[in-house]
Amino acid sequence: MSVSQASSLWKEALSAQFDQMIAWRRYLHQNPELSYEESKTSAFVAEQLRSFGIEVETGIGGNGVVGRIRNGDGAVVALRADIDALPIQDEKQCEYRSQVAGVMHACGHDGHTATLLSVAKVLSEHRSHWSGEIRLLFQPAEEVSPGGAQAMIRDGALEGVDRIYGVHLWTPIPTGIIATRQGPMMAAVDDFRLTIAGKGGHGGMPHLCTDAVLIGASLVQQLQSIVSRNVSPLQPAVLSIGSIQAGTTQNVIAERAELKGTLRSFDPDVRQLLRQRFERIVDLTCAMHEAEYDLEFRVGYPALVNDNSEAERVFRIAAEVVGQDCVREAEMMMPAEDFAYYVKQIQGCFVLVGAGNEDYARYPHHHPKFDFDESAMLPAGQMLIGLAMDALAEKK
Ligand SMILES: [Zn+2]
Ligand SMILES: [Zn+2]
Repeated sequence: MSVSQASSLWKEALSAQFDQMIAWRRYLHQNPELSYEESKTSAFVAEQLRSFGIEVETGIGGNGVVGRIRNGDGAVVALRADIDALPIQDEKQCEYRSQVAGVMHACGHDGHTATLLSVAKVLSEHRSHWSGEIRLLFQPAEEVSPGGAQAMIRDGALEGVDRIYGVHLWTPIPTGIIATRQGPMMAAVDDFRLTIAGKGGHGGMPHLCTDAVLIGASLVQQLQSIVSRNVSPLQPAVLSIGSIQAGTTQNVIAERAELKGTLRSFDPDVRQLLRQRFERIVDLTCAMHEAEYDLEFRVGYPALVNDNSEAERVFRIAAEVVGQDCVREAEMMMPAEDFAYYVKQIQGCFVLVGAGNEDYARYPHHHPKFDFDESAMLPAGQMLIGLAMDALAEKK
Protein backbone atom coordinates (compact mmCIF):
# COMPACT_ATOMS: atom_id res chain seq x y z
CA MET A 1 0.00 0.00 0.00
CA SER A 2 1.35 3.45 -0.88
CA VAL A 3 1.70 6.20 1.71
CA SER A 4 -1.29 8.07 0.34
CA GLN A 5 -3.43 4.89 0.19
CA ALA A 6 -2.49 4.14 3.77
CA SER A 7 -3.26 7.65 4.99
CA SER A 8 -6.64 7.63 3.25
CA LEU A 9 -7.45 4.28 4.89
CA TRP A 10 -6.80 5.77 8.32
CA LYS A 11 -8.60 8.97 7.46
CA GLU A 12 -11.70 7.07 6.38
CA ALA A 13 -11.62 4.74 9.36
CA LEU A 14 -11.36 7.69 11.75
CA SER A 15 -14.03 9.70 9.97
CA ALA A 16 -16.37 6.73 10.36
CA GLN A 17 -15.74 7.07 14.11
CA PHE A 18 -16.46 10.77 14.24
CA ASP A 19 -19.99 10.66 15.73
CA GLN A 20 -18.77 8.23 18.36
CA MET A 21 -15.78 10.46 19.11
CA ILE A 22 -18.09 13.43 19.69
CA ALA A 23 -20.40 11.34 21.89
CA TRP A 24 -17.44 10.24 24.04
CA ARG A 25 -16.10 13.77 24.23
CA ARG A 26 -19.47 15.16 25.30
CA TYR A 27 -19.97 12.44 27.89
CA LEU A 28 -16.54 13.30 29.37
CA HIS A 29 -17.27 17.01 29.11
CA GLN A 30 -20.45 16.57 31.14
CA ASN A 31 -18.68 14.42 33.72
CA PRO A 32 -15.35 16.12 34.44
CA GLU A 33 -13.10 15.09 37.33
CA LEU A 34 -10.31 17.05 38.97
CA SER A 35 -6.64 16.05 38.84
CA TYR A 36 -5.93 13.01 41.08
CA GLU A 37 -9.68 12.27 41.28
CA GLU A 38 -10.27 10.82 37.80
CA SER A 39 -11.62 7.45 38.96
CA LYS A 40 -14.83 7.45 36.87
CA THR A 41 -13.04 8.79 33.81
CA SER A 42 -10.41 6.11 34.11
CA ALA A 43 -13.05 3.37 34.56
CA PHE A 44 -14.85 4.70 31.46
CA VAL A 45 -11.66 4.62 29.40
CA ALA A 46 -10.78 1.10 30.57
CA GLU A 47 -14.28 -0.15 29.78
CA GLN A 48 -14.17 1.25 26.24
CA LEU A 49 -10.71 -0.17 25.56
CA ARG A 50 -11.78 -3.61 26.78
CA SER A 51 -14.84 -3.45 24.56
CA PHE A 52 -12.48 -3.03 21.57
CA GLY A 53 -10.59 -6.14 22.72
CA ILE A 54 -7.55 -4.18 23.93
CA GLU A 55 -5.39 -5.41 26.81
CA VAL A 56 -5.78 -2.91 29.68
CA GLU A 57 -3.97 -2.13 32.93
CA THR A 58 -5.55 0.30 35.39
CA GLY A 59 -4.24 2.15 38.44
CA ILE A 60 -1.00 3.13 36.68
CA GLY A 61 0.38 6.30 38.25
CA GLY A 62 -2.82 6.83 40.22
CA ASN A 63 -5.86 6.89 37.93
CA GLY A 64 -3.85 6.22 34.78
CA VAL A 65 -4.84 3.57 32.24
CA VAL A 66 -2.42 1.79 29.92
CA GLY A 67 -3.70 -0.05 26.86
CA ARG A 68 -1.56 -2.30 24.68
CA ILE A 69 -2.36 -3.20 21.09
CA ARG A 70 0.09 -5.70 19.69
CA ASN A 71 0.66 -7.35 16.39
CA GLY A 72 3.76 -9.51 16.03
CA ASP A 73 7.26 -8.13 16.47
CA GLY A 74 8.38 -4.58 16.07
CA ALA A 75 8.94 -1.30 17.81
CA VAL A 76 6.80 0.14 20.59
CA VAL A 77 5.17 3.52 20.05
CA ALA A 78 3.37 5.26 22.90
CA LEU A 79 0.52 7.72 22.38
CA ARG A 80 -0.54 9.85 25.31
CA ALA A 81 -3.78 11.62 26.25
CA ASP A 82 -4.34 13.51 29.51
CA ILE A 83 -7.72 12.97 31.16
CA ASP A 84 -8.12 15.51 34.02
CA ALA A 85 -10.31 18.62 34.30
CA LEU A 86 -10.01 21.93 36.16
CA PRO A 87 -11.63 23.62 39.20
CA ILE A 88 -13.61 26.08 37.05
CA GLN A 89 -17.37 26.65 36.86
CA ASP A 90 -18.58 25.95 33.31
CA GLU A 91 -20.26 29.12 32.00
CA LYS A 92 -21.03 27.88 28.50
CA GLN A 93 -24.62 27.60 27.35
CA CYS A 94 -24.80 24.31 25.50
CA GLU A 95 -26.37 20.91 25.86
CA TYR A 96 -23.09 19.23 26.84
CA ARG A 97 -21.95 21.70 29.52
CA SER A 98 -20.43 20.28 32.70
CA GLN A 99 -22.87 18.71 35.12
CA VAL A 100 -20.43 18.94 38.00
CA ALA A 101 -20.52 22.24 39.90
CA GLY A 102 -17.14 23.98 39.90
CA VAL A 103 -15.41 21.39 37.70
CA MET A 104 -14.90 21.74 33.98
CA HIS A 105 -12.90 20.37 31.06
CA ALA A 106 -11.52 23.82 30.23
CA CYS A 107 -8.30 22.64 28.60
CA GLY A 108 -9.60 20.13 26.04
CA HIS A 109 -8.40 16.96 27.79
CA ASP A 110 -11.87 15.48 27.17
CA GLY A 111 -11.09 15.86 23.46
CA HIS A 112 -7.66 14.25 23.87
CA THR A 113 -9.24 11.29 25.65
CA ALA A 114 -12.01 10.84 23.07
CA THR A 115 -9.50 11.18 20.22
CA LEU A 116 -7.14 8.57 21.66
CA LEU A 117 -10.06 6.18 22.27
CA SER A 118 -11.02 6.45 18.59
CA VAL A 119 -7.41 6.04 17.52
CA ALA A 120 -7.19 2.94 19.71
CA LYS A 121 -10.32 1.44 18.18
CA VAL A 122 -9.18 2.10 14.62
CA LEU A 123 -5.62 0.83 15.18
CA SER A 124 -6.94 -2.25 16.92
CA GLU A 125 -9.45 -3.06 14.17
CA HIS A 126 -6.80 -2.66 11.49
CA ARG A 127 -3.88 -4.28 13.23
CA SER A 128 -3.08 -6.37 10.17
CA HIS A 129 -1.77 -3.15 8.58
CA TRP A 130 1.09 -2.74 11.04
CA SER A 131 3.36 -4.70 13.33
CA GLY A 132 4.80 -3.90 16.73
CA GLU A 133 3.04 -2.43 19.72
CA ILE A 134 0.95 0.68 20.25
CA ARG A 135 1.00 1.66 23.92
CA LEU A 136 -1.91 3.90 24.89
CA LEU A 137 -1.26 6.14 27.87
CA PHE A 138 -4.35 7.75 29.39
CA GLN A 139 -2.66 9.98 31.91
CA PRO A 140 -4.25 11.57 34.98
CA ALA A 141 -3.33 14.84 36.68
CA GLU A 142 -1.63 16.87 33.98
CA GLU A 143 -2.86 20.16 35.41
CA VAL A 144 -1.37 19.96 38.90
CA SER A 145 2.24 19.23 39.77
CA PRO A 146 3.77 16.72 40.60
CA GLY A 147 1.47 15.43 37.84
CA GLY A 148 0.54 12.05 36.45
CA ALA A 149 3.33 11.62 33.90
CA GLN A 150 6.08 11.04 36.46
CA ALA A 151 3.84 8.66 38.38
CA MET A 152 3.00 6.65 35.25
CA ILE A 153 6.68 6.45 34.33
CA ARG A 154 7.45 5.22 37.86
CA ASP A 155 4.82 2.53 37.38
CA GLY A 156 6.54 1.33 34.22
CA ALA A 157 4.35 2.90 31.52
CA LEU A 158 7.40 3.68 29.35
CA GLU A 159 9.13 0.32 29.68
CA GLY A 160 10.23 -0.85 26.25
CA VAL A 161 8.82 2.24 24.52
CA ASP A 162 10.84 3.49 21.52
CA ARG A 163 8.95 6.66 20.61
CA ILE A 164 6.23 8.78 22.19
CA TYR A 165 3.80 11.35 20.81
CA GLY A 166 1.10 13.50 22.32
CA VAL A 167 -1.25 16.13 20.94
CA HIS A 168 -2.90 19.15 22.48
CA LEU A 169 -6.02 20.60 20.88
CA TRP A 170 -5.11 24.28 20.84
CA THR A 171 -7.66 27.06 20.38
CA PRO A 172 -5.23 29.98 19.92
CA ILE A 173 -4.64 28.55 16.45
CA PRO A 174 -7.52 27.81 14.05
CA THR A 175 -8.74 24.34 13.17
CA GLY A 176 -6.81 22.92 10.26
CA ILE A 177 -3.42 24.22 11.40
CA ILE A 178 -0.82 21.99 13.05
CA ALA A 179 2.25 23.29 14.86
CA THR A 180 5.27 22.06 16.73
CA ARG A 181 8.93 23.00 17.05
CA GLN A 182 12.31 21.39 17.47
CA GLY A 183 13.85 21.63 20.91
CA PRO A 184 12.34 23.63 23.79
CA MET A 185 8.63 24.32 23.34
CA MET A 186 7.01 24.75 26.76
CA ALA A 187 8.49 26.18 29.94
CA ALA A 188 9.75 24.67 33.17
CA VAL A 189 7.58 25.77 36.07
CA ASP A 190 8.14 26.11 39.81
CA ASP A 191 5.62 27.49 42.31
CA PHE A 192 6.01 29.02 45.73
CA ARG A 193 3.97 29.85 48.77
CA LEU A 194 5.64 32.25 51.18
CA THR A 195 4.26 33.09 54.61
CA ILE A 196 5.79 36.11 56.32
CA ALA A 197 5.43 36.08 60.09
CA GLY A 198 5.69 39.58 61.58
CA LYS A 199 4.22 40.95 64.77
CA GLY A 200 0.74 42.45 64.78
CA GLY A 201 -0.52 45.39 66.79
CA HIS A 202 -2.10 48.84 66.76
CA GLY A 203 -2.03 50.74 63.48
CA GLY A 204 -1.14 53.87 65.44
CA MET A 205 1.88 52.26 67.09
CA PRO A 206 3.84 50.61 64.27
CA HIS A 207 7.13 50.92 66.17
CA LEU A 208 5.96 48.11 68.46
CA CYS A 209 5.14 45.82 65.52
CA THR A 210 6.74 44.03 62.59
CA ASP A 211 4.52 44.91 59.65
CA ALA A 212 3.96 41.89 57.38
CA VAL A 213 2.19 44.07 54.77
CA LEU A 214 5.24 46.29 54.35
CA ILE A 215 7.54 43.29 53.99
CA GLY A 216 5.17 41.60 51.53
CA ALA A 217 4.85 44.77 49.45
CA SER A 218 8.61 45.23 49.48
CA LEU A 219 9.11 41.63 48.30
CA VAL A 220 6.66 42.05 45.43
CA GLN A 221 8.90 44.86 44.18
CA GLN A 222 12.27 43.28 45.01
CA LEU A 223 11.47 39.94 43.39
CA GLN A 224 10.74 41.63 40.06
CA SER A 225 14.39 42.62 39.85
CA ILE A 226 15.39 38.97 39.34
CA VAL A 227 14.13 38.68 35.77
CA SER A 228 14.97 42.27 34.85
CA ARG A 229 18.43 42.47 36.51
CA ASN A 230 19.80 38.95 37.10
CA VAL A 231 18.62 36.88 34.13
CA SER A 232 20.24 37.47 30.76
CA PRO A 233 17.94 39.55 28.56
CA LEU A 234 18.42 36.90 25.88
CA GLN A 235 16.87 34.17 28.05
CA PRO A 236 13.11 33.80 28.53
CA ALA A 237 12.00 33.87 32.18
CA VAL A 238 8.94 34.92 34.16
CA LEU A 239 8.29 35.49 37.83
CA SER A 240 4.64 36.23 38.63
CA ILE A 241 3.11 36.79 42.03
CA GLY A 242 -0.51 35.82 41.62
CA SER A 243 -1.73 36.26 45.17
CA ILE A 244 -0.95 38.41 48.18
CA GLN A 245 -3.10 38.08 51.28
CA ALA A 246 -2.60 39.99 54.50
CA GLY A 247 -4.36 41.86 57.24
CA THR A 248 -7.96 42.36 58.25
CA THR A 249 -8.76 46.04 58.68
CA GLN A 250 -7.45 49.62 58.50
CA ASN A 251 -6.11 50.17 62.01
CA VAL A 252 -4.45 46.85 62.70
CA ILE A 253 -0.89 46.03 61.65
CA ALA A 254 -0.95 42.66 59.92
CA GLU A 255 0.96 39.90 61.63
CA ARG A 256 1.09 37.64 58.59
CA ALA A 257 1.25 38.00 54.84
CA GLU A 258 1.06 35.20 52.33
CA LEU A 259 2.42 35.46 48.78
CA LYS A 260 1.89 32.87 46.06
CA GLY A 261 3.45 32.85 42.66
CA THR A 262 5.13 31.01 39.83
CA LEU A 263 8.58 30.99 38.20
CA ARG A 264 9.01 29.90 34.60
CA SER A 265 12.01 29.40 32.37
CA PHE A 266 13.54 27.13 29.72
CA ASP A 267 17.25 26.91 30.45
CA PRO A 268 18.16 24.74 33.49
CA ASP A 269 20.81 27.28 34.59
CA VAL A 270 18.27 30.10 34.42
CA ARG A 271 15.84 27.96 36.40
CA GLN A 272 18.45 27.45 39.10
CA LEU A 273 19.39 31.14 39.11
CA LEU A 274 15.72 32.14 39.52
CA ARG A 275 15.41 29.91 42.54
CA GLN A 276 18.69 30.99 44.15
CA ARG A 277 17.98 34.71 43.76
CA PHE A 278 14.38 34.20 44.89
CA GLU A 279 15.43 32.44 48.10
CA ARG A 280 18.17 34.96 48.83
CA ILE A 281 15.94 38.02 48.35
CA VAL A 282 13.22 36.50 50.54
CA ASP A 283 15.74 35.62 53.23
CA LEU A 284 17.52 38.97 53.28
CA THR A 285 14.38 41.10 53.00
CA CYS A 286 12.76 39.28 55.91
CA ALA A 287 16.01 39.51 57.91
CA MET A 288 16.24 43.25 57.19
CA HIS A 289 12.77 43.69 58.72
CA GLU A 290 13.44 41.17 61.50
CA ALA A 291 10.58 38.93 60.44
CA GLU A 292 10.40 35.16 60.27
CA TYR A 293 9.12 33.36 57.20
CA ASP A 294 8.10 29.98 55.94
CA LEU A 295 8.81 29.19 52.30
CA GLU A 296 7.27 26.28 50.40
CA PHE A 297 9.06 26.07 47.08
CA ARG A 298 7.46 23.47 44.86
CA VAL A 299 9.60 22.23 42.00
CA GLY A 300 7.29 21.61 39.05
CA TYR A 301 7.57 20.29 35.51
CA PRO A 302 10.79 20.59 33.53
CA ALA A 303 10.82 22.36 30.17
CA LEU A 304 9.26 20.35 27.36
CA VAL A 305 12.02 19.74 24.83
CA ASN A 306 11.04 17.99 21.60
CA ASP A 307 13.47 15.68 19.88
CA ASN A 308 14.68 17.37 16.69
CA SER A 309 14.27 14.41 14.36
CA GLU A 310 10.86 13.57 15.83
CA ALA A 311 9.75 17.19 15.30
CA GLU A 312 10.83 16.71 11.66
CA ARG A 313 8.63 13.63 11.50
CA VAL A 314 5.72 15.68 12.87
CA PHE A 315 6.21 18.36 10.22
CA ARG A 316 6.26 15.69 7.50
CA ILE A 317 3.17 13.84 8.74
CA ALA A 318 1.31 17.11 9.41
CA ALA A 319 1.87 18.10 5.78
CA GLU A 320 0.15 14.83 4.75
CA VAL A 321 -2.73 15.46 7.15
CA VAL A 322 -3.48 19.17 6.63
CA GLY A 323 -1.26 20.15 3.68
CA GLN A 324 2.10 21.90 3.75
CA ASP A 325 0.52 25.38 3.84
CA CYS A 326 -1.17 24.62 7.15
CA VAL A 327 1.92 23.43 9.02
CA ARG A 328 3.52 25.98 11.34
CA GLU A 329 6.51 26.27 13.58
CA ALA A 330 5.14 26.77 17.11
CA GLU A 331 6.52 29.57 19.23
CA MET A 332 8.11 28.80 22.59
CA MET A 333 5.55 29.40 25.30
CA MET A 334 5.37 29.81 29.03
CA PRO A 335 2.62 27.32 29.97
CA ALA A 336 4.08 24.02 31.20
CA GLU A 337 3.16 20.42 30.28
CA ASP A 338 4.17 17.24 32.03
CA PHE A 339 4.59 15.53 28.65
CA ALA A 340 8.06 17.01 29.30
CA TYR A 341 8.91 13.99 31.50
CA TYR A 342 8.28 11.50 28.70
CA VAL A 343 10.47 13.29 26.17
CA LYS A 344 13.23 13.56 28.76
CA GLN A 345 13.42 9.77 28.68
CA ILE A 346 12.31 8.76 25.19
CA GLN A 347 12.59 10.42 21.79
CA GLY A 348 9.27 12.00 20.94
CA CYS A 349 7.35 15.14 20.16
CA PHE A 350 4.38 17.15 21.41
CA VAL A 351 2.04 18.52 18.79
CA LEU A 352 -0.38 21.45 18.86
CA VAL A 353 -3.48 20.79 16.78
CA GLY A 354 -5.44 23.94 15.97
CA ALA A 355 -8.94 23.79 17.45
CA GLY A 356 -10.06 27.40 17.48
CA ASN A 357 -12.88 29.00 15.52
CA GLU A 358 -14.43 32.47 15.57
CA ASP A 359 -17.82 31.10 16.47
CA TYR A 360 -17.69 29.42 19.82
CA ALA A 361 -14.11 28.18 20.29
CA ARG A 362 -12.51 31.58 20.85
CA TYR A 363 -11.91 31.63 24.59
CA PRO A 364 -8.47 30.86 25.98
CA HIS A 365 -7.65 27.56 27.63
CA HIS A 366 -8.69 27.54 31.33
CA HIS A 367 -11.47 30.12 30.67
CA PRO A 368 -14.99 29.43 32.05
CA LYS A 369 -16.39 29.64 28.49
CA PHE A 370 -13.63 27.57 26.92
CA ASP A 371 -14.66 25.21 24.17
CA PHE A 372 -12.82 23.74 21.19
CA ASP A 373 -13.86 22.92 17.67
CA GLU A 374 -14.78 19.23 17.79
CA SER A 375 -13.89 18.71 14.14
CA ALA A 376 -10.24 19.24 15.19
CA MET A 377 -10.31 15.80 16.81
CA LEU A 378 -10.02 14.31 13.30
CA PRO A 379 -6.66 15.86 12.38
CA ALA A 380 -5.53 15.20 15.97
CA GLY A 381 -6.36 11.50 15.56
CA GLN A 382 -4.83 11.36 12.09
CA MET A 383 -1.63 12.85 13.48
CA LEU A 384 -1.39 10.23 16.22
CA ILE A 385 -2.02 7.39 13.78
CA GLY A 386 0.27 8.85 11.11
CA LEU A 387 3.13 9.33 13.55
CA ALA A 388 2.73 5.86 15.04
CA MET A 389 2.58 4.16 11.62
CA ASP A 390 5.58 6.09 10.34
CA ALA A 391 7.67 5.35 13.43
CA LEU A 392 6.73 1.64 13.43
CA ALA A 393 7.55 1.28 9.73
CA GLU A 394 10.91 2.99 10.20
CA LYS A 395 11.98 0.86 13.13
CA LYS A 396 10.83 -2.47 11.66
ZN1 LIG B 1 -4.48 23.14 31.00
ZN1 LIG C 1 -4.02 20.96 28.71
